[in-house]
Amino acid sequence: ERERLSRIKNTPAVTLDGERVELLANIEQPADTVPALSVSAVGVGLFRTEFLFMGRGARLPDEEEQYEAYRAAVEGMHGLPVTIRTVDVGADKPLDRSTRDDHLNPALGLRAIRWSLAEPAMFQTQLRAILRAAAHGKVNLLIPMLAHASEIQQVKALLAKAREQLDARGAVYGPVRLGAMIEVPAAALAVRMFLKHFDFLSIGTNDLIQYTLAIDRVDETVAHLYDPLHPAVLQLVAQTIAECRAQGKPVSVCGEMAGDVTMTRLLLGLGLRSFSMHPTQILAVKQQILRADTRKLRAWAQAVVASDDPAALMND
Ligand code: PEP
Ligand code: MG
Repeated sequence: ERERLSRIKNTPAVTLDGERVELLANIEQPADTVPALSVSAVGVGLFRTEFLFMGRGARLPDEEEQYEAYRAAVEGMHGLPVTIRTVDVGADKPLDRSTRDDHLNPALGLRAIRWSLAEPAMFQTQLRAILRAAAHGKVNLLIPMLAHASEIQQVKALLAKAREQLDARGAVYGPVRLGAMIEVPAAALAVRMFLKHFDFLSIGTNDLIQYTLAIDRVDETVAHLYDPLHPAVLQLVAQTIAECRAQGKPVSVCGEMAGDVTMTRLLLGLGLRSFSMHPTQILAVKQQILRADTRKLRAWAQAVVASDDPAALMND
């Protein structure tokens, strides 16, 4: 099977009815650009930057160390776009294992952008490093876990300040497109607010499922209730894609749902044309795309989303 899949490595990801689909890689460190390119990913849709921050106690990475890592990923993709997500520590990604249980509900606490906004000097250091890496290739800047208008304003202000700081020292940096993760139900429901402020959106289904269903994604005792096919989850995903398409804004899915071959047809039917996943999943998803006719999937996908029992319709 793996050999069969490797034969479609250089085949463009286009459906039977001629719809082009962007297949991007999720990476966790610069060296992952090698497996990404080996399956012909057309870019990095999610570069998780947590590896720079986790497991090193109180010693956070400085601007230079971060810049080198981001630049390595950008150069590793040889001109293809790289979406760098600002740090998402807390909850399932503890900064330091010893602090893991300091809070009762870490998934609802100070994680991701909330932590970044609570540590503005740290956040600006990361923003400067990313802006500098953007001088070496196409960089998209992605912000995790946003929910509030005030957070959007703060991010924009800190980004402007980071540019001023670079200007003041005459540093070289490049342009970035600014994107938001849609992974909190509030953000999916208020997606229009996000469309006003961002160049692109990326749906983080892992957290969107966690927060929509109130299921801690790392709690095994409730893992059986973690259901990507819950109608509420599908409705939020469908609405987000539909709003983006209506406004002509790029949208992608970068959670596990994007790399799940049983979900490919549904996401295509809902209008998704950009998927970001672990490199090992790209060819299997591409195979689904090559066999799909989106014209035949549209009505079915709407019926699945509207159903009380989506799972029962998935094989129709
Ligand atoms: C997600 O939540 O779907 C996502 C892509 O981010 P992470 O898994 O890193 O939280
Ligand atoms: Mg997430």
